[in-house]
Amino acid sequence: MMIRCFLLSLAFLLSVSVASAKPTPPTSLIESIGYFQEYTDDVIDWPQARQRFKSLQFTEASHPFLTFGISNRTTWVQVAINNPTSEVLDRRLTAGQTWIEQLNVYHLDGSGLIQEWYTGDAAPADKHLLPTKGFVFHLHVPPGRSYVLIKARTHDPLAMPIELESLEQFQSQEPKNYLASGLLYGTLLALTGFSIVLFIIFKQAYALYYAAYMSSFVVMNIGYNGYAYAWLYPNSPTFQNYSTIFIMVVHGVCGLAFMSNFLRLRERMPNLLNVIKVYAAVSLLCMSIFTLAQLHIASSIVSFGFLAITSCLMIAVGIYNAGKVPEARYFLVAVLCSMFGLFTSTVSVCGIIPYTFWGYRGAEIGVFLEAIILATIIATRLKDIESDRVTAKFLASSDPLTQLLNRRSFEMAASKLVQHAKQNHHLLSLIMLDIDHFKSINDNYGHNVGDLVLKKVAQILRNSVSEKDAIARWGGEEMVLLVSEMNHYEVRALTERLRSAIEASVLCVEEQTIQVTASFGVAHSDETQNIGQMLKLADKRLYHAKSQGRNRVTSTLTNEVTL
Ligand code: GH3
Ligand code: MG
Ligand code: MG
Repeated sequence: MMIRCFLLSLAFLLSVSVASAKPTPPTSLIESIGYFQEYTDDVIDWPQARQRFKSLQFTEASHPFLTFGISNRTTWVQVAINNPTSEVLDRRLTAGQTWIEQLNVYHLDGSGLIQEWYTGDAAPADKHLLPTKGFVFHLHVPPGRSYVLIKARTHDPLAMPIELESLEQFQSQEPKNYLASGLLYGTLLALTGFSIVLFIIFKQAYALYYAAYMSSFVVMNIGYNGYAYAWLYPNSPTFQNYSTIFIMVVHGVCGLAFMSNFLRLRERMPNLLNVIKVYAAVSLLCMSIFTLAQLHIASSIVSFGFLAITSCLMIAVGIYNAGKVPEARYFLVAVLCSMFGLFTSTVSVCGIIPYTFWGYRGAEIGVFLEAIILATIIATRLKDIESDRVTAKFLASSDPLTQLLNRRSFEMAASKLVQHAKQNHHLLSLIMLDIDHFKSINDNYGHNVGDLVLKKVAQILRNSVSEKDAIARWGGEEMVLLVSEMNHYEVRALTERLRSAIEASVLCVEEQTIQVTASFGVAHSDETQNIGQMLKLADKRLYHAKSQGRNRVTSTLTNEVTL
């Protein structure tokens, strides 16, 4: 399981805050970033905060992406700006992630306040909320030194990317962000739809759990990235604050359900499955209670903690089963992909590796790969199920020795051919054959050799007629063919060919050559369209061929039988 939100939970669990030494980009007007956190509740205003920065009671942040974990402590950030030109410059300031509840921004210079803004998702969504980017403010940066003071508070993990970009820089980011989101959501939704179709066809629950796992990720991610709040429910801050963290838990539960069903934990690890069920139920219950009671911090802790533990659990189950079930190895690779993506995002956000667009989106790339690998292993398993089903159907419908149709499936095939022949006014012909003196082959060479002869004759029949015609083993050493779209002469010629092919075939067994012949009786649909009657007629003519000395064909054309 790999989600971008989870990186913040890691940051929270590891109590990561920004500390690595890395200069801000030279194109930026930012000189330095500093921060401090209040221990008491929201007691100071911006002049007091400014005073505190002036008296150097703050921590220097040398990386422009600040993370503070879950604490709900009021956090003040000061961004020192230096405009070396003599003109007022237009800049876009990104000051915090989309889920921050309270975000006040004050822009001041030596003479006092220039601009101020109040926003955050505790209030209805406003124009400052930019999906995937964060809260963005339009600054008029005066020449010389000025300061931005940012006051932030949230019950969720506090993450504050600080960027100061020109309009061009800002706009160049937008298509990339939307393209990445579109690619991710488009792929995941397509795979979701595809797996629902697979579920409808194959009735395998894991296909449905996969669909739930991926679609809940999409719902969670559009909430997390701010799309949902900006576009779907801008006037419902409470819903915004609880829905994403609630869906995070739902997503984790879907992942566990998928894993349990796909890796067949019910048979392989029944005790663990019970633990997982209790764990998932308790987590969902806690989330529901905390959500209804509007305990935001408790909900956040349960949600992020649940995802962290669930990810580790999925990896552990994957490792445990990898040696036993090949599919578990691919499952493990999928989970590790998202873990690696998450790790890349985390170290990128924490400044351990340079912060880049792709580094930050590492977790999403991980989920993307995870989704594709899981869909592939689902499709592979369903393919195996389908081929088992086809094999079982074939075995049920065919004679195991000769691989020809058995009586039951011949009758089914025959009724289709009769219908088709009636509709198209084709002649349908039934050829029945019986191997001559077959008993003596069994007696002289043994039953196994008799079996080989049956197989050989079946092979000759199969090679002589087209795919659409039906060939069956009618019983013992008796076989029938139902051929269509041939006239009487063609059928007669075909039957003669079959007769002489059987006569000419030689079976070599232990330096002995065995030759067999067969007798044939033929009936046509212009005599009777009832398949039962045709069988009777062909059988009668076959008996006649036997009585006439065997190794011959009796059909209506020969006039040897009077009906
Ligand atoms: P005819 O020319 O009059 O047809 O004589 P026949 O010996 O071929 O006919 P008969 O009905 O007397 O003997 C058929 C034999 O086929 C008897 C039976 O043991 C044998 N048979 C039936 N099914 C199988 C089978 O699956 N394998 C083998 N090896 N023999 C079989
Ligand atoms: Mg026989
Ligand atoms: Mg027989």
